[in-house]
Amino acid sequence: MFLSKVPNRIAAIRKTLSASGDMHVPVPDKSYDVVVMGYGAAGAAAALEAAAAGAQVLVIDGSVGGGSTQRSGGVIYLGGGTQSQIDAGFEDDAENMYRCLKIESEGAVDDDRMRAFCEESKGNFEFLRDNGVKFADPSKDKAVYWPKKASLPPGDSTIYWSGNEEAQPWASAARPAPRGHWPWFPGCGDKNEDSVQAPTRGHVLFNALDAAVTSNPNIVVQEHCRGVSVLMENGRASGLRVRALPDLPAIGALNQMLYGIATMTEYDFTGNARRECMRISGELFEEFGQEHDVTATKGVIISAGGYFFNDSWVEKYAPDRRGNMPLGNMGDDGSGIATGQGAGGAITMMNRCTTWKFMAPPNGFLSAAFVDTKCAQRFSNEDVYNAKLVDRQFARADGKAWCIIDSKLYQEIEAEIQDGSNVLYGFQRWLSVISLKALCKQGNSWAQLARACGLPADGLEKTMERYNDDARRGGDTNFGKQPKYLRPLDEPPFYAVWVDGTIGAPQRALLRALPIAAPKYMTMFPMLPLIKAAVNLGVTMPPSPTFSLGGLHVDISQRVLNEKDLKPIPGLYAAGRSASGVATGGYVSGLSIADAVFAGRRAARHATLGVADATAAAGFYTGSLAGREMSEVPIMEATQSKL
Ligand SMILES: Cc1cc2nc3c(=O)[nH]c(=O)nc-3n(C[C@H](O)[C@H](O)[C@H](O)COP(=O)(O)OP(=O)(O)OC[C@H]3O[C@@H](n4cnc5c(N)ncnc54)[C@H](O)[C@@H]3O)c2cc1C
Repeated sequence: MFLSKVPNRIAAIRKTLSASGDMHVPVPDKSYDVVVMGYGAAGAAAALEAAAAGAQVLVIDGSVGGGSTQRSGGVIYLGGGTQSQIDAGFEDDAENMYRCLKIESEGAVDDDRMRAFCEESKGNFEFLRDNGVKFADPSKDKAVYWPKKASLPPGDSTIYWSGNEEAQPWASAARPAPRGHWPWFPGCGDKNEDSVQAPTRGHVLFNALDAAVTSNPNIVVQEHCRGVSVLMENGRASGLRVRALPDLPAIGALNQMLYGIATMTEYDFTGNARRECMRISGELFEEFGQEHDVTATKGVIISAGGYFFNDSWVEKYAPDRRGNMPLGNMGDDGSGIATGQGAGGAITMMNRCTTWKFMAPPNGFLSAAFVDTKCAQRFSNEDVYNAKLVDRQFARADGKAWCIIDSKLYQEIEAEIQDGSNVLYGFQRWLSVISLKALCKQGNSWAQLARACGLPADGLEKTMERYNDDARRGGDTNFGKQPKYLRPLDEPPFYAVWVDGTIGAPQRALLRALPIAAPKYMTMFPMLPLIKAAVNLGVTMPPSPTFSLGGLHVDISQRVLNEKDLKPIPGLYAAGRSASGVATGGYVSGLSIADAVFAGRRAARHATLGVADATAAAGFYTGSLAGREMSEVPIMEATQSKL
């Protein structure tokens, strides 16, 4: 195993370094206008925006940049009348988008932020496009629209329904419009449904931004360089203390490899490889890294991702998700958030996470009835975005539920898995087979099925009676599920698929005891007996990918608020998953990256121009901030005069 060879490599590096005597650590020693800590979507957006305002920018990253953004699906939630929406034949505007997203956030995102996000969304689409992200095949110059519900659409699509726009109550509150924008790249239309892994596009998005950043003469990117603490001067953030690895290819390659391995959490159910990589990378920085202070005359922007790779923070802030599979990258260790806290910054909504347990596609599962594990009652319309359904599972019954289907629907789902209709990617087919074959109970009556699942029989009978009556009448009187997904489930035998957004203590112990999990391309069939055995032992499959949504408490200009009085800390900003944001209220596909771009740009705009100037810039939201601008001006004036 590669990790066992690491000590030899470190020893070789040590020897080289002691031989070379003068170790070159490549941190530029001059001061910058803006220092950006963390180079993912938020960091790239911040750097480009600050540079566009004429600032000299340093971007640092603990690895080579890209972060979770690079390995993400690459879906970006944009609206308000983007060109892609127009191409797809939909009308949208900021107010319409706001009415929809307001429901998404469940009151956790303040109104000013939500309005600003929607007002600026079309501008952010143009910002991304101007910086090289293609949302249409250049030879056709028209977005390709995918009309069906999908977690990810077919390869050549560039716009689809990535959220809850068509479900209730969203559809009643706002005119439905698709907002999931997916970057185009040459060859993306080639058939790729059989890919074992999710067909991600985060690298397409990030590579475009990276090209724009690295070709910008105002921006310097420093790899293998970690932010350690914010430098404060008279209550203002004046720079960043960083720890950088020496400019030695062997060290950089080793560090990058550790990030790569730690990030492959889908093959490391135990988490042991991840923990080991994080530990070794930490030691690399401790032993070989050198500390430098970098001055930031206009602002320090923390955009270093979230915290779900930090086990003790998960235990502390989101204990209901502990043991879940961390989704992100090794930089999601909470160090960005902790750096802001070290400067006095407050944190907020740290318990908020998103957990993915996608049942559909196959879209047959949208016609199932999900019931809780205690009373066998439905708790949601099943056609909502999957992570919302899981959120509701957590709110209702510890993240667990049964997905009820009848034999006719069972067969239809099986057929869908076979024929690949509704775009089933390889990994989705794989998960569906696990659901039907390994996580499924059966009963010839509702009472029998209830017994098999440990549910109250009268509860399940009552729930299914009402559900089937509603389906026959064509309207869900409980939650308003769309009629196209509503149908009676009345043909025995009945089935219940176990859906669990958590991993309990016994499972965790077992997983830790297991070696590194299944090889990448092992097919599902030889694995099924293994999976069944694991399920019988109480292991949740698959292990509920999760990332954190809470972070540093920021104002609408992304200034980090002081823990003592919730007033902005001058010169200190946070964006993306290091901060609370629009996605914190509730994630749908694309919202995290869209929030990172929105917040990164905003932070940079405020740091470089101040709000008064920033409002004059095209596409920058002015709306309901009017009352606040005056109170912010003195801070900026004080800041500017000090520079
Ligand atoms: C498989 C997967 C699929 C996803 N799909 C989508 C999707 O389709 N749409 C969507 O909106 N979201 C998606 N997400 C979530 C989304 O990718 C992230 O939430 C988002 O990209 C975070 O952006 P960011 O800029 O805040 O952080 P990141 O992109 O993670 O960038 C942070 C950077 O900071 C660096 N860093 C960390 N600590 C330090 C430090 N101390 N010093 C210096 N640098 C540091 C890291 O190395 C990293 O490069 C997905 C995530 C995953 C893992």
